Amino acid sequence: MSKISEEINKRKTFAIISHPDAGKTTLTEKLLLFGGAIQIAGAVKNNKIKKTAASDFMEIEKQRGISVATSVMTFEYRDKLINILDTPGHKDFAEDTYRTLSAVDSVILVIDAANGVEAQTEKLMEVCRMRDTPVLIFVNKLDREGKDPFELMDELEEKLDIKVRPLTWPIGMGPRFKGVYNLEEKGINLFDANKQRIEKDVISIKDLNSSVLDERLGESAADQLREDVDLVEGVYDPFQIKEYENAQTAPVFFGSALNNFGVQELLDKFVNIAPRPLGRESDKGLVEPEHDKFSGFIFKIHANIDPNHRDRIAFLRVCSGKFERNKFFHHVRQGKKIKFSNPYSFMARSKEVVDEAYPGDVIGLYDTGNFKIGDTLTTQGEEFNYKGVPSFSPEIFKEVVNKDPMKSKQLDKGVQQLTEEGVAQLFTQQPGNKKIIGTVGELQFEVIQYRLKNEYGASAEFHHKNYHKAVWLTTENEEQLDHFTRVKARYVAKDKDDNWVFLAESQFLLNQAIQDYPDIDFHTTSEFK
Ligand code: GDP
Repeated sequence: MSKISEEINKRKTFAIISHPDAGKTTLTEKLLLFGGAIQIAGAVKNNKIKKTAASDFMEIEKQRGISVATSVMTFEYRDKLINILDTPGHKDFAEDTYRTLSAVDSVILVIDAANGVEAQTEKLMEVCRMRDTPVLIFVNKLDREGKDPFELMDELEEKLDIKVRPLTWPIGMGPRFKGVYNLEEKGINLFDANKQRIEKDVISIKDLNSSVLDERLGESAADQLREDVDLVEGVYDPFQIKEYENAQTAPVFFGSALNNFGVQELLDKFVNIAPRPLGRESDKGLVEPEHDKFSGFIFKIHANIDPNHRDRIAFLRVCSGKFERNKFFHHVRQGKKIKFSNPYSFMARSKEVVDEAYPGDVIGLYDTGNFKIGDTLTTQGEEFNYKGVPSFSPEIFKEVVNKDPMKSKQLDKGVQQLTEEGVAQLFTQQPGNKKIIGTVGELQFEVIQYRLKNEYGASAEFHHKNYHKAVWLTTENEEQLDHFTRVKARYVAKDKDDNWVFLAESQFLLNQAIQDYPDIDFHTTSEFK
């Protein structure tokens, strides 16, 4: 096998996603603990914003050193290299999460056993389904009273629109929680509420009818388990890895991240079955990781909020070939050569300069304003752009109003740069060059206002616009589009890539437009090329 294939086969790049509070941070930390990347629990910074206030957000931003480091966590486990990509917990920053999902090969979805499928869980799954990302589910907080596991399985299948296949099964729950039964290995891992230790007490059970089961679990729990296992094996087809890889079936694990419980099983199975770095779609077709020339794309940009250090950090996912330090690569959008003298990786959660990186890796690149989210880097002579970093319709729209005419240049620059970073989406209306900012939540506006003031010295106010949804327009019939943009001048704008967007005031008006302009295609995301 070539060196590059060997490197690719070693890597597992994924994200842990969940509705806030289901236990994403706790599980991330426990995976790092089990993977030997950290020594004690409590070391992972929870970059969660408890209150919906810009000041909290900025407080977190002040510790950006930490939040940049926790954006990607790399560690070795067995003979694999694991890259965990962190996603923000706060729902107002969901867009950032969606983009991060474009850079992973699979996800672990954490579900709170008591709450089941929550609003954010459904949205995240929708994004996973768009790319057929393989999903593995961890049902967390079994140490608390939760939903009946069979009901929970049904709920997952129904609301997430995916088949599930339990690979472990809980024995009791809450105060009666005794452990989990590993359906494949036929062993019981007994529960011991213990937040620090990671060794475990596993009993191998060749025969579920064995009296050892009654001795260790008590008669009624043992009987219940026998019944449950019978039912599980009767209801669910055997686990097929292909179905998982094709995102048709999600294997399910049970445990309690807080108590280190069920995490080892999860990690061991994960490194076995999770896909290695996969090929990625570009506008010139699928690019395989083994393609011998380097390529990758930017999925996240972190600004330095210190106004004296305007540099930013662009996060690049390597998709094919080998990335090398100090070698000239090709910035496709700008059509220019570019090299990096201090690219870094996130090994063991500290930043380290790297000389080379392989498909599946995420590296941080110092950027002085060359990059936008979604930009593709290739090797000289390779002209293509990666797909898969779409924008979705924002939920809140506001017009930017300049409060300090002396600083209009600064304001423009600030708005431009912040939206390039992906803090929010910018729509520019043609008559009068009006700028509309679209976000998922109010918190983003507070952050933008704060950052405009502190980093650019500009004062802005935001005036609410009554738009319901942004939809992207394409057509072969230029005349019709021309007519549409003239008639609806107040409701159309250009996005950051100069695409036409219709800002519909209601679903009714959107439907009407769809009817009235049959030759125009209305897209719910910016990805339609
Ligand atoms: P996130 O918002 O998804 O990152 O959730 P966190 O990991 O921050 O967890 C939210 C809360 O649930 C915290 O107070 C955790 O201590 C708690 N938690 C996490 N896992 C468990 C668990 O297995 N059992 C119980 N009882 N609490 C848990």
